[in-house]
Amino acid sequence: MQDIIDEIASQMLSRADKGKVATYIPQLARVNLEQFAISVATPDGQVVSAGCADTLFSIQSVSKVFTLTLALGKLGENLWHRVGREPSGDPFNSIVQLEHEQGKPRNPFINAGAIAIADAIMQGQAKETLAEILQFVRFLANDNTIAIDERVARSELETGDRNASLAHFMASFGHFHNPVDAVLGIYFHHCSIAMNTQQLATAGLFLANQGINPHTGYAVVSPRRAKRINALMMTCGHYDGSGEFAFRVGLPGKSGVGGGILAIAPGKASIAVWSPGLDPIGNSKLGTEALERLTHKTGWSVFAG
Ligand code: GLU
Repeated sequence: MQDIIDEIASQMLSRADKGKVATYIPQLARVNLEQFAISVATPDGQVVSAGCADTLFSIQSVSKVFTLTLALGKLGENLWHRVGREPSGDPFNSIVQLEHEQGKPRNPFINAGAIAIADAIMQGQAKETLAEILQFVRFLANDNTIAIDERVARSELETGDRNASLAHFMASFGHFHNPVDAVLGIYFHHCSIAMNTQQLATAGLFLANQGINPHTGYAVVSPRRAKRINALMMTCGHYDGSGEFAFRVGLPGKSGVGGGILAIAPGKASIAVWSPGLDPIGNSKLGTEALERLTHKTGWSVFAG
């Protein structure tokens, strides 16, 4: 595995076209494009990495996998009254479907869905809810050093008109239980969690291991729930690029505009890749290519015979 990912990392670093960093969140626009990292965590507890796997980056929408898991733990199947389970076929921050579908977001991974989930998770003060989310991510990664990058959170808040619109629009249907600004604060902050690929691959390992985190031995979710979260990652994890990601990589995956992707090869590995340059849809350009190469080399695609 080390040889395979070393080769992939050097191929990715030599690419002339590395995509474009997200600019609509000014703090993300400052990130150096010339970076690539990959970590592969396996159920036997090993993590192998190539590239700058110690460098922290903004996990952005990859955090939606963790808030979905937390929300399912709190609300169980009732969560599906708040969000749907269908791919949207629209961009991550689109508002169009919300009006037709009475303010119920298509799935937990588009922005509207993740904001609705932040509202569903919130109990009491926003600060406590945020602390609970961060604690959960630290627990999954088995690493108490993980923190929120406040500069990114502030940057998102200052430029968050679109997300605020989505939230207020949903609230206008009477779906919100908490003040919109408090919910948005939770959403912006969990998107601003900073992690490296080693931490992220470890945090996702329960999804590759029937719901159990092998580092702690703790059953995070049931095998059935792990299967369902993986299904949502496959169908909705890359927004209107989800079909293309399934076609090229063939793994459940969740992307973030910080350039990270968490991909799950059930029973085999949890893989985190990071390259900050994005394709036009907003998914990591080289991250996707690296995962495509990895599944070609390993035969790990869930569609491979
Ligand atoms: N925080 C970002 C936003 O709300 C997340 C988008 C993404 O990572 O895809 O726009």
